[in-house]
Amino acid sequence: MSTALRAVRGMNDILPGESAHWARFEACVRAWLAAYGYREIRTPILEHTGLFQRAIGEVTDIVEKEMYTFIDELNGESLTLRPEGTASCVRAAIEHNLLFDGGKRLWYMGPMFRHERPQKGRYRQFHQVGVEAMGFAGPELDIEHLLMTARLWRELGLAEAIRLELNTLGAAEARARYRAKLIAYFEAHLDALDEDARRRLYSNPLRILDTKNPAMQTLVAEAPRLMDELDAPARAHFDAVCQGLADAGIPYRVNPRLVRGLDYYNDTVFEWVTDRLGAQGTVCAGGRYDTLVEQLGGRPAPACGFAMGVERLLALLAESAWVAEETPADAYIVHVGAAAARFALRVGERLRDAGLNVVLHGGGGSFKAQMKKADASRALYAVIIGDDEAAAGELSLKPLRQAGEQQRVGLERAAELLKASRSHPHPQP
Ligand code: ATP
Ligand code: MG
Repeated sequence: MSTALRAVRGMNDILPGESAHWARFEACVRAWLAAYGYREIRTPILEHTGLFQRAIGEVTDIVEKEMYTFIDELNGESLTLRPEGTASCVRAAIEHNLLFDGGKRLWYMGPMFRHERPQKGRYRQFHQVGVEAMGFAGPELDIEHLLMTARLWRELGLAEAIRLELNTLGAAEARARYRAKLIAYFEAHLDALDEDARRRLYSNPLRILDTKNPAMQTLVAEAPRLMDELDAPARAHFDAVCQGLADAGIPYRVNPRLVRGLDYYNDTVFEWVTDRLGAQGTVCAGGRYDTLVEQLGGRPAPACGFAMGVERLLALLAESAWVAEETPADAYIVHVGAAAARFALRVGERLRDAGLNVVLHGGGGSFKAQMKKADASRALYAVIIGDDEAAAGELSLKPLRQAGEQQRVGLERAAELLKASRSHPHPQP
């Protein structure tokens, strides 16, 4: 018995129709990134496993249980499908010495892979748009990232749906002091810790604050706050970021429990969240990672960045009035007969030379059946070619989306008429 072939669980096909929404979203994103001077970087989807272990941290959800890792049997190397984009960007910046003449503003877009339990807004292959600014110290870039994300939500019409949560993780010394306090606090409440939290108590106690377990929310809410351990420079950095947001009129909430699921952050961390997507409410997240470049072997360079989940943003957009229509073709060519078929190919190429979008009927059938297809294609015109048109080197043009007579014209005239109708589009019935 044969079993039907199916896509891997949690990995989605993006079908025509849906892809129009992706294309419109991507076009908005590219224009938005250009407005801030960011340049695209494309890195491989596979990297050496060690990159993610070192960058993201061994005791994190991603590295402990979410990575697609396998041994390349041809040479025994351990490889991993990228679960996020920052590690690869930093690796590439170091490998190609991108920061040799100063800071760089980079962005990427593409699929990421995490072996999670699939549910709405959580997939095993999902897509991120990520932004990284490397080689910049000081709060300006943190503020730039918050202003630019706020602008994108406005441009997408999502400003009402998404709010900003902000925190600071300070510097390593403050986190070390805080770590000790946190361990003492959780040790005093051992009974209330779930299995994950107990396992992480000594290896990565901050991560416990990130728990999604409802039973632990009160415990976590009453935990000591990192905010109270900050040293003066970290405090000043955070104050400057808050000031920048106030100056720009962007509302935010300081959330002292926001620690992010990756180890590389310091100082500013933030998430943009919505209430409209159930549990999967974070649509964009990021922060500063001043030590990652050095940690991965580069010359020390401060940096910050963020990534947004494209599926979650598209789900939000689908609920709003955001529509992405596919542009219909200018013409659909129907043709019956051998001579007509040959001429139709020529007509199609000539019209495309003139810059028109043309669909050529395929698969034969009567005029009537082909005209049905032409109509269903939503093309603006049918170009009709029978053997006598072909013999005369002419064609018949029939408007499909507006009133008007069918007319028989030469090829050049047809191109002119189709172009004219494109620049004066008629309302669709
Ligand atoms: P979450 O808390 O929802 O698991 P995360 O902290 O693991 O998110 P990040 O690593 O910060 O997520 O990734 C940035 C963004 O990518 C998230 O805010 C989210 O929008 C999106 N994202 C992360 N994991 C997934 C997934 N499995 N499916 C779809 N989108 C995801
Ligand atoms: Mg996660």
